[in-house]
Amino acid sequence: MKKSSEKIILTICYNNEETCDSCSLFGNLMCKLDHKDSIIFIWPFLTMIGLLTAGIVITRVKVGTPWWAIITFIGVYFLYMLFFFNIWESKILCSHCPFYIIDDSKILKCYANYGFLKTAKYNPAPISKSEQIQFLIGALLLFFIPITFLLIIQNFLFAGLVSLSTIIFFVNTMNTSCKKCPNFSCILNRVPEEWKEEYFKKNELMKKAWEESKQK
Ligand code: SF4
Ligand code: SF4
Repeated sequence: MKKSSEKIILTICYNNEETCDSCSLFGNLMCKLDHKDSIIFIWPFLTMIGLLTAGIVITRVKVGTPWWAIITFIGVYFLYMLFFFNIWESKILCSHCPFYIIDDSKILKCYANYGFLKTAKYNPAPISKSEQIQFLIGALLLFFIPITFLLIIQNFLFAGLVSLSTIIFFVNTMNTSCKKCPNFSCILNRVPEEWKEEYFKKNELMKKAWEESKQK
Protein backbone atom coordinates (compact mmCIF):
# COMPACT_ATOMS: atom_id res chain seq x y z
CA MET A 1 0.00 0.00 0.00
CA LYS A 2 1.26 3.49 -0.79
CA LYS A 3 1.67 5.86 2.14
CA SER A 4 1.35 9.64 2.29
CA SER A 5 4.67 10.08 4.04
CA GLU A 6 7.91 8.15 4.01
CA LYS A 7 7.96 8.29 7.81
CA ILE A 8 4.76 6.21 7.99
CA ILE A 9 5.83 2.59 7.70
CA LEU A 10 3.32 0.50 9.60
CA THR A 11 -0.45 0.85 9.39
CA ILE A 12 -3.38 -1.38 10.30
CA CYS A 13 -4.59 -1.56 6.70
CA TYR A 14 -3.12 -4.65 5.19
CA ASN A 15 -5.43 -5.73 2.44
CA ASN A 16 -6.24 -2.70 0.32
CA GLU A 17 -4.48 -0.56 -2.21
CA GLU A 18 -5.90 2.78 -1.18
CA THR A 19 -3.52 5.57 -0.28
CA CYS A 20 -3.97 7.21 3.11
CA ASP A 21 -4.31 10.62 1.47
CA SER A 22 -7.57 9.66 -0.21
CA CYS A 23 -8.97 7.88 2.87
CA SER A 24 -11.67 9.58 4.96
CA LEU A 25 -10.18 8.00 8.09
CA PHE A 26 -6.82 9.69 7.66
CA GLY A 27 -6.17 11.80 10.75
CA ASN A 28 -9.32 10.46 12.45
CA LEU A 29 -8.90 6.78 13.22
CA MET A 30 -5.66 5.81 14.98
CA CYS A 31 -4.47 3.54 12.21
CA LYS A 32 -0.72 3.97 12.26
CA LEU A 33 2.04 4.41 14.78
CA ASP A 34 2.38 7.97 15.99
CA HIS A 35 4.41 8.93 19.07
CA LYS A 36 2.01 11.80 19.78
CA ASP A 37 -0.75 9.24 20.45
CA SER A 38 1.55 7.43 22.89
CA ILE A 39 2.36 10.60 24.82
CA ILE A 40 -1.32 11.57 25.08
CA PHE A 41 -2.15 8.08 26.38
CA ILE A 42 0.74 7.50 28.78
CA TRP A 43 1.25 10.77 30.71
CA PRO A 44 -1.43 10.15 33.40
CA PHE A 45 -0.05 6.64 34.03
CA LEU A 46 3.50 7.99 34.39
CA THR A 47 2.15 10.68 36.71
CA MET A 48 0.61 7.94 38.84
CA ILE A 49 3.95 6.06 38.98
CA GLY A 50 5.74 9.30 39.94
CA LEU A 51 3.24 10.00 42.74
CA LEU A 52 3.49 6.41 43.98
CA THR A 53 7.29 6.62 44.10
CA ALA A 54 7.22 9.98 45.89
CA GLY A 55 4.66 8.65 48.40
CA ILE A 56 6.79 5.61 49.23
CA VAL A 57 10.00 7.64 49.57
CA ILE A 58 8.37 10.28 51.79
CA THR A 59 6.83 7.64 54.08
CA ARG A 60 10.15 5.77 54.29
CA VAL A 61 11.99 8.96 55.30
CA LYS A 62 9.32 10.17 57.74
CA VAL A 63 8.21 7.01 59.55
CA GLY A 64 10.74 4.40 58.41
CA THR A 65 8.56 1.98 56.42
CA PRO A 66 10.49 -1.35 56.57
CA TRP A 67 12.51 -2.20 53.46
CA TRP A 68 11.01 -5.69 53.32
CA ALA A 69 7.52 -4.16 52.92
CA ILE A 70 8.67 -1.82 50.14
CA ILE A 71 10.58 -4.55 48.29
CA THR A 72 7.66 -6.99 48.61
CA PHE A 73 5.27 -4.41 47.19
CA ILE A 74 7.56 -3.51 44.28
CA GLY A 75 8.05 -7.23 43.50
CA VAL A 76 4.33 -8.02 43.57
CA TYR A 77 3.42 -4.96 41.51
CA PHE A 78 6.15 -5.56 38.95
CA LEU A 79 5.15 -9.22 38.53
CA TYR A 80 1.51 -8.23 38.16
CA MET A 81 2.37 -5.73 35.42
CA LEU A 82 4.49 -8.31 33.59
CA PHE A 83 1.61 -10.81 33.77
CA PHE A 84 -1.07 -8.30 32.85
CA PHE A 85 0.59 -6.67 29.84
CA ASN A 86 2.30 -9.74 28.37
CA ILE A 87 -0.28 -12.46 29.02
CA TRP A 88 -3.68 -11.46 30.41
CA GLU A 89 -4.36 -8.23 28.50
CA SER A 90 -2.64 -9.68 25.45
CA LYS A 91 -5.30 -12.41 25.31
CA ILE A 92 -8.48 -10.62 26.40
CA LEU A 93 -7.94 -7.27 24.65
CA CYS A 94 -4.96 -6.91 22.33
CA SER A 95 -5.33 -10.20 20.44
CA HIS A 96 -8.56 -8.74 18.96
CA CYS A 97 -6.91 -5.51 17.83
CA PRO A 98 -5.63 -4.82 14.30
CA PHE A 99 -2.41 -3.47 15.86
CA TYR A 100 -1.69 -7.03 17.00
CA ILE A 101 -0.77 -7.99 13.44
CA ILE A 102 0.64 -4.67 12.25
CA ASP A 103 3.73 -6.76 11.52
CA ASP A 104 4.73 -10.39 12.02
CA SER A 105 7.16 -9.90 14.91
CA LYS A 106 6.58 -11.29 18.41
CA ILE A 107 6.73 -7.77 19.84
CA LEU A 108 3.59 -5.64 19.96
CA LYS A 109 3.77 -2.30 18.17
CA CYS A 110 0.99 0.11 19.06
CA TYR A 111 0.52 3.51 20.69
CA ALA A 112 -0.27 2.08 24.14
CA ASN A 113 1.61 -1.18 24.73
CA TYR A 114 4.62 -0.86 22.44
CA GLY A 115 7.30 -3.42 23.30
CA PHE A 116 5.24 -6.04 25.15
CA LEU A 117 5.06 -9.64 23.98
CA LYS A 118 2.40 -11.07 21.71
CA THR A 119 1.66 -14.25 23.61
CA ALA A 120 -1.85 -14.93 22.27
CA LYS A 121 -3.13 -15.95 18.86
CA TYR A 122 -4.62 -13.13 16.79
CA ASN A 123 -8.43 -13.22 16.88
CA PRO A 124 -10.23 -10.72 14.59
CA ALA A 125 -13.63 -11.46 16.19
CA PRO A 126 -15.09 -8.99 18.73
CA ILE A 127 -14.07 -9.17 22.38
CA SER A 128 -16.54 -11.23 24.45
CA LYS A 129 -18.46 -9.83 27.44
CA SER A 130 -16.38 -11.94 29.81
CA GLU A 131 -13.16 -10.56 28.29
CA GLN A 132 -14.48 -6.99 28.53
CA ILE A 133 -15.16 -7.42 32.24
CA GLN A 134 -11.80 -9.10 32.83
CA PHE A 135 -10.07 -6.19 31.09
CA LEU A 136 -11.81 -3.64 33.32
CA ILE A 137 -10.85 -5.61 36.45
CA GLY A 138 -7.25 -6.04 35.28
CA ALA A 139 -6.85 -2.36 34.36
CA LEU A 140 -8.35 -1.16 37.65
CA LEU A 141 -5.98 -3.43 39.60
CA LEU A 142 -3.06 -1.52 38.04
CA PHE A 143 -4.22 1.45 40.08
CA PHE A 144 -5.81 -0.24 43.12
CA ILE A 145 -2.65 -2.18 44.04
CA PRO A 146 -0.58 1.04 44.55
CA ILE A 147 -3.47 2.81 46.28
CA THR A 148 -3.88 -0.13 48.69
CA PHE A 149 -0.16 -0.12 49.51
CA LEU A 150 -0.18 3.63 50.22
CA LEU A 151 -3.18 3.12 52.51
CA ILE A 152 -1.40 0.26 54.33
CA ILE A 153 1.65 2.45 55.01
CA GLN A 154 -0.80 5.23 56.03
CA ASN A 155 0.22 7.82 53.46
CA PHE A 156 -3.33 9.01 52.93
CA LEU A 157 -2.37 12.16 51.05
CA PHE A 158 -0.55 10.24 48.31
CA ALA A 159 -3.23 7.51 48.27
CA GLY A 160 -5.65 10.34 47.46
CA LEU A 161 -3.35 11.80 44.80
CA VAL A 162 -2.90 8.40 43.13
CA SER A 163 -6.70 7.94 43.21
CA LEU A 164 -7.06 11.31 41.50
CA SER A 165 -4.51 10.33 38.85
CA THR A 166 -6.53 7.13 38.26
CA ILE A 167 -9.64 9.19 37.51
CA ILE A 168 -7.61 11.50 35.27
CA PHE A 169 -6.18 8.48 33.44
CA PHE A 170 -9.61 7.07 32.58
CA VAL A 171 -11.15 10.46 31.71
CA ASN A 172 -8.16 11.36 29.52
CA THR A 173 -8.09 7.99 27.76
CA MET A 174 -11.82 7.91 27.09
CA ASN A 175 -11.72 11.43 25.66
CA THR A 176 -8.68 10.93 23.45
CA SER A 177 -7.39 7.42 22.61
CA CYS A 178 -10.72 5.59 22.96
CA LYS A 179 -12.36 7.93 20.44
CA LYS A 180 -9.94 6.84 17.71
CA CYS A 181 -8.61 3.38 18.68
CA PRO A 182 -9.24 0.56 16.15
CA ASN A 183 -9.99 -2.07 18.81
CA PHE A 184 -13.71 -1.34 18.37
CA SER A 185 -15.06 -4.00 20.75
CA CYS A 186 -13.07 -2.80 23.78
CA ILE A 187 -15.51 -1.85 26.56
CA LEU A 188 -14.06 1.70 26.61
CA ASN A 189 -14.04 2.23 22.82
CA ARG A 190 -15.95 5.29 21.54
CA VAL A 191 -15.20 5.32 17.81
CA PRO A 192 -18.21 6.57 15.75
CA GLU A 193 -20.17 3.88 13.87
CA GLU A 194 -19.48 5.47 10.46
CA TRP A 195 -15.72 5.24 10.99
CA LYS A 196 -16.05 1.58 11.93
CA GLU A 197 -18.02 0.88 8.75
CA GLU A 198 -15.40 2.69 6.68
CA TYR A 199 -12.58 0.75 8.29
CA PHE A 200 -14.29 -2.60 7.77
CA LYS A 201 -14.13 -1.88 4.02
CA LYS A 202 -10.33 -1.91 4.40
CA ASN A 203 -10.07 -4.97 6.62
CA GLU A 204 -11.90 -7.96 5.13
CA LEU A 205 -10.62 -10.37 7.78
CA MET A 206 -12.04 -8.33 10.67
CA LYS A 207 -15.27 -7.57 8.82
CA LYS A 208 -15.90 -11.27 8.15
CA ALA A 209 -15.15 -12.25 11.75
CA TRP A 210 -17.52 -9.57 13.07
CA GLU A 211 -20.31 -10.65 10.70
CA GLU A 212 -19.89 -14.29 11.71
CA SER A 213 -20.00 -13.39 15.40
CA LYS A 214 -23.34 -11.59 14.85
CA GLN A 215 -24.82 -14.75 13.37
CA LYS A 216 -23.99 -16.84 16.44
S1 SF4 B 1 -7.54 3.51 7.52
FE1 SF4 B 1 -5.82 2.68 6.28
S2 SF4 B 1 -5.90 3.82 4.33
FE2 SF4 B 1 -7.11 4.96 5.85
S3 SF4 B 1 -5.72 6.44 6.70
FE3 SF4 B 1 -5.68 4.65 8.05
S4 SF4 B 1 -3.98 3.40 7.29
FE4 SF4 B 1 -4.46 4.88 5.68
S1 SF4 C 1 -3.98 -0.38 20.71
FE1 SF4 C 1 -4.68 -1.08 22.73
S2 SF4 C 1 -5.86 -2.92 22.29
FE2 SF4 C 1 -4.61 -2.49 20.48
S3 SF4 C 1 -2.79 -3.71 20.76
FE3 SF4 C 1 -2.37 -1.67 21.62
S4 SF4 C 1 -2.88 -1.79 23.80
FE4 SF4 C 1 -3.76 -3.56 22.78
